[in-house]
Amino acid sequence: MKYLAIFKLLIFSGILIAQPRPGYWQQHVNYEMHIDFDHERHQFEGNQIINYTNNSPDTLHELFYHLQFNAFQPGSNMDERSRSIADPDRRVGDRINHLTKDEIGFLEVVQLKYNGEVIDFETWGTILKVTLSQPILPGKSCVLAMDFIGQIPAQIRRSGRFNKEGVHYSMAQWYPKLAEYDRYGWNTTPYVGREFYGIWGDFDVYISIDKSYTLAGTGILQNAAEIGHGYGSDHKAKGNGKQTWHFRAENVHDFVWAADPKYSHTTHAVPGGPLMRFFYKEKKNEHIDNWEKLPKLMERFFILADSLVGPYPYPEFSFIQGGDGGMEYPMATLMLGRGKLKGMVGLAVHEAMHSWFYGLIGTNESRYPWIDEGFTTFVENIIMQDLFPEEGPRATNPHFGNYMRYVQQFKKGATEPLTTPADHYTTNSAYSVASYSQGCLFLVQLKYIMGEETFWKGFRSFFNKWKFHHPHPEDFIREMEKASGMQLMWFCDLWTGTTQAVDLAVDSVYEKNNETIIVLRRLGDLPSPATIAIVNQDGKADLYHIPLDLMYGRKSEAGNSLPPWKWAAEKYTISIPTTKIKEIYIDPFFQSVDIERKNNVWPIKVE
Ligand SMILES: [Zn+2]
Repeated sequence: MKYLAIFKLLIFSGILIAQPRPGYWQQHVNYEMHIDFDHERHQFEGNQIINYTNNSPDTLHELFYHLQFNAFQPGSNMDERSRSIADPDRRVGDRINHLTKDEIGFLEVVQLKYNGEVIDFETWGTILKVTLSQPILPGKSCVLAMDFIGQIPAQIRRSGRFNKEGVHYSMAQWYPKLAEYDRYGWNTTPYVGREFYGIWGDFDVYISIDKSYTLAGTGILQNAAEIGHGYGSDHKAKGNGKQTWHFRAENVHDFVWAADPKYSHTTHAVPGGPLMRFFYKEKKNEHIDNWEKLPKLMERFFILADSLVGPYPYPEFSFIQGGDGGMEYPMATLMLGRGKLKGMVGLAVHEAMHSWFYGLIGTNESRYPWIDEGFTTFVENIIMQDLFPEEGPRATNPHFGNYMRYVQQFKKGATEPLTTPADHYTTNSAYSVASYSQGCLFLVQLKYIMGEETFWKGFRSFFNKWKFHHPHPEDFIREMEKASGMQLMWFCDLWTGTTQAVDLAVDSVYEKNNETIIVLRRLGDLPSPATIAIVNQDGKADLYHIPLDLMYGRKSEAGNSLPPWKWAAEKYTISIPTTKIKEIYIDPFFQSVDIERKNNVWPIKVE
């Protein structure tokens, strides 16, 4: 019994849980926050107690917090960036620069105590730097107690008050959030309205707010019976004054909430999956129709996402009308409440899919925005093709839209390497094409290299091993290498570190001694294996796979395996013992990211 108890304790404390990589560690944090919300002044007073554990092998002499509401002030990095970039987000433009004192956002730290003693700090825009009086040694914990006040900005992006859909409060990036520390050090990226990286832990959040408000957010409401508002029951507390909502979320790395007095609140349970909650304030029939269709479609979404990637582990998920774009948070999304059904479902699918790639695979988005956005987009495309089947090229290739965006950007000479930190792409469009499209196509091309079945085996095993952790690109590739027995780092390095592209072509075809000689040519700089279909005059087609020598392996799919193509060789020659060839296709099933498909065909088709 005693041993069993100790064993359970070790499991619970995470000590016996296998690490995804030998020597891997990550920091741990628990938050308890008490928020007193003043909806008349759009401000709140907060008290936060953080238990922070340094699991790193390093002695920490300083700490950093994010104070992201400070981005919504004239002259902030977010404001400067938006006013100087060539293609600003039209929703932001120069609006931050015109915010008045009452409309700006801020988070002001009143007092910080470190292990019970008052400690100094320094605010650098959206980052708070704390130099510790005593260092935190490896394996040690500390308590940080903070009093702070915040003002909710007029809605600019993601967070704010009274946005264009009229939602009162979208509370994202709203509290002092401890920065993550990993083997590359502190993540102290100033907030410009873009990416995140957080520490895993438990959140207990108590929000005292006027009784008229319905709240939605990360976590499970602990006092549902007392609160009502569609949680314990439909009752709304009568009279004036406040009620205190207690949300608890376990093993998440952020906490979002929203509040509105007019939210409709409905629920729908996914069989074998989470309870979904829907919060929307639309009164028009066309919009209500969409919100009423959403539950059934999102039930199908969760079933598909679970089977494609791995099970969603939390008991609930909330779709919340936040009224400004769409944004992912643990156990919830803030999304637009209006629009055409397909657009709304696409948004809901994208943001909910981030539960897997952001929520569970917690990569550092500032450094690798292409992982969370690209991987999310990849699975989203497959699910959307199931929910809204399309004819044409999309039916064969659900990533066609991302492929086209990438090809157009490439042909303009405007692609930038995926290793560019998220905030430092020279244009918003370069960021967007890189993160969403090239990130998605990274997986598309990898699947072409590895073969369908092997790819999904590796993809699921990566998710399963790395969920609730912070993998880096090399961790993903290692998992794919293990699944396939192939060498794949070359592809990751070239796809993310350069702007090289794949372009294979049929160079020439001729007959010699009763044989047909086919010469393929690599026109693009990025080497690639090739699958080719050769159609005989009798209409019979044969499939051939040409591995790339860098792979040191072959995909096991139906077809004939040919000798490897040396990566440095521009040409590759095949001899077929017949002169009765009618057509040749490189990548006949449109599975690769070859940027010029017209030269993949022989004889060249005139269109
Ligand atoms: Zn996204």
